[in-house]
Amino acid sequence: MILILGSGLAGLSCSYHLGHEECLILEKNSYAFGHVHSTQRDGYTWDEGPHVCFTKSEYVWELFAESVGGQFEEFEAKTTNYYRGHWIDHPAQSNLYQIPEPLRSQCLNSFLESRPVEGETTKKVTNYQEWLEQAFGPVFAETFPAAYTRKYWTCDPRKMGIDWVGGRVFEPKVEDVLAGMRGPLGRQTHYINRIRYPKSGGYQSFAAKLREGANISFGAEIVRIDLQNRKLWTADGRSFSWTRLINTLPLPDFISLCVGLPSQAYEATRELLCSQLLLINIEANHPTLRCENWMYVYDEDLYSTRINCTEKLSPRNAPVGTTGVQVEVYGSRLKPFAMDPNTIAMAVEREVKKMGLVEPFATTSLHTVYVPSANVVFTKETASALECIWATLEPFGLVREKEDCSPLTDWKQIQSLGNERWSLLMAGRFGQWKYFWTDDCVLRGRSLVGAR
Ligand SMILES: Cc1cc2nc3c(=O)[nH]c(=O)nc-3n(C[C@H](O)[C@H](O)[C@H](O)COP(=O)(O)OP(=O)(O)OC[C@H]3O[C@@H](n4cnc5c(N)ncnc54)[C@H](O)[C@@H]3O)c2cc1C
Repeated sequence: MILILGSGLAGLSCSYHLGHEECLILEKNSYAFGHVHSTQRDGYTWDEGPHVCFTKSEYVWELFAESVGGQFEEFEAKTTNYYRGHWIDHPAQSNLYQIPEPLRSQCLNSFLESRPVEGETTKKVTNYQEWLEQAFGPVFAETFPAAYTRKYWTCDPRKMGIDWVGGRVFEPKVEDVLAGMRGPLGRQTHYINRIRYPKSGGYQSFAAKLREGANISFGAEIVRIDLQNRKLWTADGRSFSWTRLINTLPLPDFISLCVGLPSQAYEATRELLCSQLLLINIEANHPTLRCENWMYVYDEDLYSTRINCTEKLSPRNAPVGTTGVQVEVYGSRLKPFAMDPNTIAMAVEREVKKMGLVEPFATTSLHTVYVPSANVVFTKETASALECIWATLEPFGLVREKEDCSPLTDWKQIQSLGNERWSLLMAGRFGQWKYFWTDDCVLRGRSLVGAR
């Protein structure tokens, strides 16, 4: 039997592609879908943080479309930035005209001064801070993306590597920045442009096809794993054996549950950093006040980091004439939450009122959701920690794969693993410790059997 730990998208996709009849999924919650679980409350639909589909994979587009019977919204991402009372179109680096003076000119001058001189070799960057300074100039880098990194990734950009950046951050050319000093650039530069979201039921509706027929045991919290004897135990005292095991639990949790591993594996997990998310969901009795899908907040004295309005994803996500403002606040072991969730929520409510997203006395409900594992943070130590952990797991049937220490996976390069080569496998954002979106989690399951 194939035992799958966790019923998030990665677990569901592995089960779907291997055949639900071959698999048993163990899930600690009373519901499936993990991070893409959507909840209904007071007529609002809330996701665990804003989720939209922006995949490049036709396979995933089709699978998600079939799941909702073709009933999805499709739109272009509209994003904006908030900085000390100013709204700046995204990406700010090519919309300098909206940045107040003298900062605007300082950003431009520092950008121009840091352009590589023709004929000179460009300095090799070794961390994310250096990458940002090279791409944008030190003033813009420090004021915007470095400040945002400390809030969103909870980490000094000097501690982060650059192998996760890919095409996700827009690197403007000199002419883009100069044009952005005068006015709007007039073309889309966000890495996400075409977006889909289910018309109803929240983002989890896209996973309906993967979930259908899955064999899931709910309330099965795994508390101990014996890889040697292929046996594990759940908190309610049940035990399970496997011929093949797939883990989608956060890697540090998985390793800490395994008994009898060499000590270096437990030590290596201390190098793995993941952020925690506190979501503040605010229901207010007036229509949406801004047109953007989401907003980035750079002020480091504000808790709010990213903001979206649930009815901007699908109008059915909120009662007519109301708004559901969702604010993300991040913490981690490097940046523990300074106060209890309710105090943070009240501070955030004051912030969104000041930003003009919620009117005074309009809040009808305010609640928080805590997400213990949100974003895998790629520090300079991540790859060597993964190398150590994978090497430790090889004797238990883990097969080393291309790019298994890298944050990104190029699915075009990935060959099917085949059915017989592995007896222990990692899947998903937290199991593989990757910069994975929902489409990657689906494609991980598909990669086990190849295209079909
Ligand atoms: C704020 C935020 C916004 C995001 N936005 C987007 C987006 O716009 N588009 C996009 O494509 N992706 C987005 N993502 C990424 C996406 O959510 C993840 O890549 C994906 O959902 C991860 O799925 P998974 O199956 O790997 O992990 P999970 O969903 O975490 O699944 C793991 C499962 O294991 C279970 N589990 C954990 N511990 C135990 C245990 N001890 N015993 C039993 N079960 C256990 C959990 O309950 C969970 O169900 C976002 C992520 C976040 C945090």
